[in-house]
Amino acid sequence: MIRVTVWNENVHEREHQGVRDIYPDGIHGCIAKFLELDEEIVAKTATLEMPSHGLTDEVLENTDVLIWWAHCHHHEVSDEIAKKVQQAVLKGMGLIVLHSGHLCKPFTLLMGTSCTLKWRDNDRERVWCCNPGHPIAKAIPEQFEIPVEEMYGEFFDIPNPDEVVFLGWFKGGEVFRSGVTFTRGRGRIFYFQPGHEWNPTYHIEPVQKIITNAVKWAAPTCRIDEIGCPNTQPLEK
Ligand code: ZN
Repeated sequence: MIRVTVWNENVHEREHQGVRDIYPDGIHGCIAKFLELDEEIVAKTATLEMPSHGLTDEVLENTDVLIWWAHCHHHEVSDEIAKKVQQAVLKGMGLIVLHSGHLCKPFTLLMGTSCTLKWRDNDRERVWCCNPGHPIAKAIPEQFEIPVEEMYGEFFDIPNPDEVVFLGWFKGGEVFRSGVTFTRGRGRIFYFQPGHEWNPTYHIEPVQKIITNAVKWAAPTCRIDEIGCPNTQPLEK
């Protein structure tokens, strides 16, 4: 089984009825629910207001893939926990960063760049698959539309990704590297752009499928206890 922890800031859902109407169980609850439709995945949730933000050492040690959604409260995540997430990725934990999570502390730590981008509310997006052989693109059509989504545009200040799997085109004319992969240490990272809290994006079937595929792709084949290359005895000749 792939053990997933879906982390969410969980502030918009508590403060705005309009967001709660779309996600009555929170964005984290919605994502955990559709992930668990896959028999290979078991999903738990964690939120900002929990002690240690719900990311204790034990939780991180028992997480194969961490999903991160956040927006306005990145600064409330403690530096200590952000560092622990970064270290867990270097040791092999998968990380999927969604939408406005592009500015969260663990992602910016792992990227080393500002991770800023251009944005505008309420546009129509067409998501194009530009790497159809990639495991994250499995059973995803050549393109699909998100009727209303926040525009995220280039320049997206990330290091050159290992792979660009999806490109977003917006009605306003902007384009965006909407689905990109990275490797850091032993960990695999996928950033996926759709998912503004005021739009029902995580109810859209191809979006759910992409996140499910990404969990399987990012799941570690092995985890280690230390970062880097462990000391070994010389091989016998
Ligand atoms: Zn947004």
